[in-house]
Amino acid sequence: MTRRKKIYEGKAKILYEGPEPGTLIQYFKDDATAFDGKKKASLEGKGVINNRISEYMMTRLGAIGIQTHFIRRLNLREQLIREVEIIPLEVICRNIAAGSLSTRFGLPEGQVLPRSIIEFCLKDDKLHDPMVAEEHITAFNWASPQEIDDIMAMTLRVNDFLCGVFSTVGITLVDFKIEFGRLWENDFARVVLADEISPDSCRLWDSTTNEKLDKDRFRRDLGNVIESYTEVARRLGIMKEMPTVIQGGRPSNDDDHRASNDDDKE
Ligand code: UDP
Repeated sequence: MTRRKKIYEGKAKILYEGPEPGTLIQYFKDDATAFDGKKKASLEGKGVINNRISEYMMTRLGAIGIQTHFIRRLNLREQLIREVEIIPLEVICRNIAAGSLSTRFGLPEGQVLPRSIIEFCLKDDKLHDPMVAEEHITAFNWASPQEIDDIMAMTLRVNDFLCGVFSTVGITLVDFKIEFGRLWENDFARVVLADEISPDSCRLWDSTTNEKLDKDRFRRDLGNVIESYTEVARRLGIMKEMPTVIQGGRPSNDDDHRASNDDDKE
């Protein structure tokens, strides 16, 4: 059993060296943080659910021609991904007013926006992820004008697709955050979708009751966080493989620190 080299540890995920050059293993932790890390908790089973939901979304987006870093899920908490050069932007897409948009412009939460709005924030925890304009992005070389165009076009496609997928299971996609990376092929860098798509990074409301089914349950101490994430996975039809998680049990093949053996034993 070999110990893998840790490449990076973030708030909700760890990246390990992958089995082949150009690959990484993305491990989903149970840790939840909010308000720049000031609020912290461990939510048992969150990593397993997010790994599965993100796999589902990345796979389906891949199937409609949106290139992603995702290769395949390895086990309950890990997925094999392509190593990309992360573009240091949080790309936020909004359909309905909520969160910081409501605060900034005094919009009531739940107000449908005249059209989908894309915002960019600089990925920098120390600076509290400040919002940036395209002017800043190009002047400071965080991304080129062509890359911004690609990111915006891909984000709108992701939004249309996710809105459809969620609406068919009775969920409204209020907003979400995605990240992109550069996949280098010789001297050419292609922009691909990276990171994750999960209830940690989306606002998801029950279409009938407007009940929150996402990380706002943790941010606002609404309770039943894991139950809500599980409900999202259940509605998407991807819960069959993780019965132990729903009951709060520890999955048997939860390879926290061991090398991944690529076997999916669920
Ligand atoms: N978001 C995220 N990570 C962040 C900031 C925001 O995943 O560091 C997501 C958040 O869950 C929501 C959307 O991006 O779905 C818009 O978040 P907002 O700007 O309203 O900030 P928040 O109110 O979440 O602080």
